[in-house]
Amino acid sequence: EAKRQGAGLWQAFSPSLAAAQDRRIQVERRLRRALQEGELDVSYQPIVELGCDEWSTFEALARWTDAELGPVSPLEFIRVAEESGLINELGQFVMQRALQQSVAWSARWSRRVTVNVNVSATQLMRPDFVGQVEQLLVSTGAHPRQLTLEITEAVVIQQLDFVIGQLQGLRRRGVGVAMDDFGTGFSSLAVLSRLPIDALKVDRAFVRGVYREPRRQALLSAVVLLGQRLEISVVAEGVEEQRELDVLQGLGCTHAQGYYLSRPADAASFDSA
Ligand code: C2E
Ligand code: MG
Ligand code: MG
Ligand code: MG
Repeated sequence: EAKRQGAGLWQAFSPSLAAAQDRRIQVERRLRRALQEGELDVSYQPIVELGCDEWSTFEALARWTDAELGPVSPLEFIRVAEESGLINELGQFVMQRALQQSVAWSARWSRRVTVNVNVSATQLMRPDFVGQVEQLLVSTGAHPRQLTLEITEAVVIQQLDFVIGQLQGLRRRGVGVAMDDFGTGFSSLAVLSRLPIDALKVDRAFVRGVYREPRRQALLSAVVLLGQRLEISVVAEGVEEQRELDVLQGLGCTHAQGYYLSRPADAASFDSA
């Protein structure tokens, strides 16, 4: 795109743009290599059922520290992966690891442990996505009910019918679907009215400082009610303080996730949980 607009000219006058492009190319090159070498990691962050001491659900989050680039934020490398076509491979890697982990924890703790895996729009648009997920469930020995896919509203803006079909196929087998970052897209309600989902994850923008922001609290309260009426669970994302948790519990929110409860960490650090 930049090329068509005359990247040469732009670069001559905009060193920051040139630097950003260099970085993008480097990240893509190193990421491609890291995927081939199996160098990515997966961290886990519990999704806590409020009032319950046991942790049974964990969100899998991709992590990458490159030998040359150092640690790279998922916000950066996920976007590069989406733009360069590497996201399918990356997503498969994370899902496989997460399913293996859920099986291992279930055996260790003698209870069903489930994992949430983030799925990008481009993955969901692939006609072979449902088959890929089924294959990973079989190869890891995980039960479909041990997996929830986290999708964002961006997923569904285009090709809603096709995406609904894919998700329905998986839900029939027991795989869960959660809407991530709820409230940050533009079509939340329109999408909700058509998409089969099992949980709403309210973006942390609505949780942060909710105890001193009446408008935020009103919105949060409305989303909790929405979840109750739809009979799906509501997860508050990004809880960093007890005071936020107090408000959430007062509103009847059932699940929460955030640094205050637990930071994302490697699997081994939860082994004694
Ligand atoms: P997300 O799915 O909404 O994940 C939650 C993000 O919020 C994570 O950032 C997590 O570390 C962070 N977080 C959790 N609790 C708190 C808190 O209390 N305060 C604050 N400030 N942040 C908190 P992370 O790991 O950097 O991931 C960023 C995003 O990258 C994720 O947002 C997700 O959209 C994407 N991502 C990560 N892993 C994958 C993956 O395997 N596949 C895909 N497609 N996307 C991924
Ligand atoms: Mg997520
Ligand atoms: Mg989220
Ligand atoms: Mg979020």
